[in-house]
Amino acid sequence: MRPSGLHARPLEIVTPLAGFHKNRVVQIGQDLGVPMELSMSCMNPQDDRHCGECSKCRERQDAFREAGIADPTPYAAAWRVPIK
Ligand SMILES: [Zn+2]
Repeated sequence: MRPSGLHARPLEIVTPLAGFHKNRVVQIGQDLGVPMELSMSCMNPQDDRHCGECSKCRERQDAFREAGIADPTPYAAAWRVPIK
């Protein structure tokens, strides 16, 4: 589909990290100096912060832990289930 408008260009969506496990994405972000605390992956953000309770927040926390990198994410609530 070709968009319309004066400056319209064809839209291409690329997902170069889609095939990686989340801990690998975290590692790549760390290596590139990405401010990971500014990224959002929460399904239920609270006041622009990760909720800390949804499955995506759990996956995010797992990814940082598995990558061995401190999670800089400010969560609204910490997971109630201890992470092993
Ligand atoms: Zn969440």
